[in-house]
Amino acid sequence: MSTSSDCIFCKIISGAIPSRKIFEDGQVFAFHDISPVANVHFLVVPKIHIQSLNHLKPEHEAVMGRMLRVGSAIAQDLGLGESGYRTVINTNADAGQTVFHIHLHVIGGRPMGWPPFGK
Ligand code: AMP
Ligand code: ZN
Repeated sequence: MSTSSDCIFCKIISGAIPSRKIFEDGQVFAFHDISPVANVHFLVVPKIHIQSLNHLKPEHEAVMGRMLRVGSAIAQDLGLGESGYRTVINTNADAGQTVFHIHLHVIGGRPMGWPPFGK
C-alpha cells in the first residue's frame, strides 16, 4: 500500500493537511515538527506509506538512504553541521512512536543528553 487514507503524514504529503514544508523530491518529504523539542526539529518521511521499521522490505532500502541524506543536508543547511544534531526513528510503544508512517526526526540547536531515557 503506497498511501493510507487515515494516515496524517500521507495527508501532509498530499497537501490535504498543511505543514511547514522544507523540501520534497520524488521519494521523500521534509517538514517542521508541529511540536518541536529543540530550536530545530524537523521530520523526513518517505512518500510511500511504510508503517514502521518493522515493515521494511528490500525495496525500501533506497528511500531509507535518501531520508538520511536529505535529513543531513537540511541539518547542514540550517547550520547544525558543526554544532551537531540527532537523528531518531522511533518504533512502537517503548520508543514512543505515535504516528505509524516512518519518520526520521532531526533535532538540533541545543545540547542533548544520552542515553535518551525520560521520566
Ligand atoms: P513519533 O512520536 O516518533 O511517532 O513522532 C511523531 C511526531 O510527529 C511528533 O514529534 C509530533 O509532534 C509530530 N507531528 C504530529 N502531527 C504533526 C503535524 N500535523 N505536523 C507536523 N508534525 C506533526
Ligand atoms: Zn502514511
